[in-house]
Amino acid sequence: MKIKKLVKEGVSSLTAYNAKEIPCRVKLDANESPFGFGSTLEAVEKIRTNRYPDPEARRLRTLVARNLGVRVDNVLQGNGSDELIYYLITTFGGPVLFPVPTFSMYGIIAQALGEKKIEVPLDREFDIDLGKTIAAIKREKPRLIFLSSPNNPTGNCFSSESILKIVDASKGLVVVDEAYQPFSSLRGFLPLLNDYENMIIMRTLSKVGLAALRLGFLVAQSEIIAEVNKVRLPFNVNALSQAVAARALKEKKKMNTFVREIVAERKRLIRGMEKIGGVRPFPSEANFILFEAGEACNVYDSLLKKGILVRNMHEAVPGCLRVTVGTRRENDAFLRALAAIARN
Ligand code: PMP
Repeated sequence: MKIKKLVKEGVSSLTAYNAKEIPCRVKLDANESPFGFGSTLEAVEKIRTNRYPDPEARRLRTLVARNLGVRVDNVLQGNGSDELIYYLITTFGGPVLFPVPTFSMYGIIAQALGEKKIEVPLDREFDIDLGKTIAAIKREKPRLIFLSSPNNPTGNCFSSESILKIVDASKGLVVVDEAYQPFSSLRGFLPLLNDYENMIIMRTLSKVGLAALRLGFLVAQSEIIAEVNKVRLPFNVNALSQAVAARALKEKKKMNTFVREIVAERKRLIRGMEKIGGVRPFPSEANFILFEAGEACNVYDSLLKKGILVRNMHEAVPGCLRVTVGTRRENDAFLRALAAIARN
């Protein structure tokens, strides 16, 4: 039986998201936090494994809403924000517009769901090309626009003015993906949510120490939340994740300390990289740094041989790799390895 023939055309031509486990000593490839939340046994002790989890994740959503300063009916829970991207495109359909390079799942999910995707190249500063974007919006009338700010993999925030002009120009919905907002020096878009009813904010707990739990959130007008909630699978967030996250969110101080430490290390890492010949780090408002490294693929291989795993971005941004900010020791190991490779 020719299975390939049965697969939908859009899926057959897809490449699966690159998320392999590669053995390494220092793992700086996936924009995770190097700091976890330690013992969580107490949080899961009361879980009754024979019962389904709370389908509405009420306790967790209430905590998230309180932290973000919105109402609980403005928040929708996802099994990671990846799942929420799926739900958004399932609910509203395409065309789906996004700048490139950016987070690859917008395109992968649009294609998997058979929706048209419109990619608009970023300008030379990795900012939104407003002229081209507005022209594409007028021509293609996208029902959904995804803007990752800070952007993965470039690390910069897009101009706030451009984002708001896009929100104004769009008759569809604009999703500002704020996965990396906790690390940014700029204000996010949450305070503007009431002024722009076609704007959706997406957040995740994956970058602040809870990647293992798979938890993302949409924040939007309750009418938008109610529509997306119709396509949400009933028990999409399991009981362990709900309990552990609810407990971790009460440790806000600890979370903030971790974020501050990562931001301080990011500055140190950039300064260290700038001193290495042939290496050019780009400015970052996120927990990772994109950098030019000449023969990027060779540098990637050489780093891995020394036990350091980074992300090879050469296909999306020629000549570039992306390193996640780790602990001080991990960052030092990375800098030493990179300097040694540059000397050879
Ligand atoms: N958005 C962006 C911009 C990301 O970089 C990532 C993770 N790489 C995600 C969303 C997905 O995060 P989650 O773990 O919540 O699915």
